[in-house]
Amino acid sequence: MLKLKTTFLALALASAAALIAGAPATAQDKATVGIAMPTKSSARWIDDGNNMVKVLKERGYNTDLQYAEDDIPNQLSQVENMVTKGAKALVIAAIDGTTLSDVLKQAKAKGITVIAYDRLIRGTPNVDYYATFDNFQVGVLQAESLVQGLGLKDGKGPFNIELFGGSPDDNNAYFFYNGAMSVLKPYIDSGKLVVVSGQMGMDKVATLRWDGATAQARMDNLLSAYYGNKKVNAVLSPYDGLSIGIISSLKGVGYGSADQPMPVISGQDAEVPSIKAMLRGDQYSTIFKDTRDLAKVTADMVDAALAGKQVTVNDTNTYENGVKKVPSYLLKPVVVYKDNWEKTLVDSGYYKKSQFQ
Ligand code: BGC
Repeated sequence: MLKLKTTFLALALASAAALIAGAPATAQDKATVGIAMPTKSSARWIDDGNNMVKVLKERGYNTDLQYAEDDIPNQLSQVENMVTKGAKALVIAAIDGTTLSDVLKQAKAKGITVIAYDRLIRGTPNVDYYATFDNFQVGVLQAESLVQGLGLKDGKGPFNIELFGGSPDDNNAYFFYNGAMSVLKPYIDSGKLVVVSGQMGMDKVATLRWDGATAQARMDNLLSAYYGNKKVNAVLSPYDGLSIGIISSLKGVGYGSADQPMPVISGQDAEVPSIKAMLRGDQYSTIFKDTRDLAKVTADMVDAALAGKQVTVNDTNTYENGVKKVPSYLLKPVVVYKDNWEKTLVDSGYYKKSQFQ
């Protein structure tokens, strides 16, 4: 009896200590965080999901990670499930940033914290925070890399360029495009860059669902319709997956040889096949967005929000979602070239050198 009582007392003391320390007393008390990712078809989102789960688990949360394979109704039902199953916070990288309003209304009614992850959720008041990179700056860096690759600042030119945009249902695509155009427009206006097809503006250059095959088909059309007796010198591509399609199209008509060199092509996400394309000289640059940092910032938001503490943000002005300005934390993107890829991607531990051999 005495032993039982002592054990009981010890247990009671231990759980009181845990409560004081703010630690969950038992596994059942850990909050679940629902993580909705768009697709596994791109390595970056797989890294995002894995990093989010890792960081949240280290901090004692349960996680429910779902991928929707770029299918909007699928993502909607995944998020509905998370709400029904009692998630305390939702971390959502939306496929279409405007399709989640109803389920987020339910989430709000249940007091669930909603964080837009990387992509802004639009048209609803029920998104609490946004964790992302400086998306305008991504576009600036992509365009500056083209300017550098062409030697425009050394007075070279004029050059022919074609422009590609991201998915029109992804708010980021407009930021990337506008950031890029803030750099390219003066060169276009002065005639140093010529968009031979004349296709400019997101209504003309967007690529639905960021699909590489769609970009490849558009590049095929551009080359056959406008480049019969001309050469394309640069292509603004907002994402590595599109760059791969664009490169295939160019190779199909003989680019990538001594007398017909590859144009200068940008990208984004520093995906392994595209770093390899860069090392081969097919792609000129990409943008690295460290998903480990994004996971950490997002987990910090979850921690603070669930503890009722102030959530750290560094931008309260830029991301207007049609209903409100969503308090955001913006991380810095980094441009990657042939000469800094190893330092940026391997020395930082993001990739292993062996992945490139
Ligand atoms: C992300 C990019 C990514 C693109 C396609 C955007 O929302 O910010 O990093 O390249 O989606 O997946």
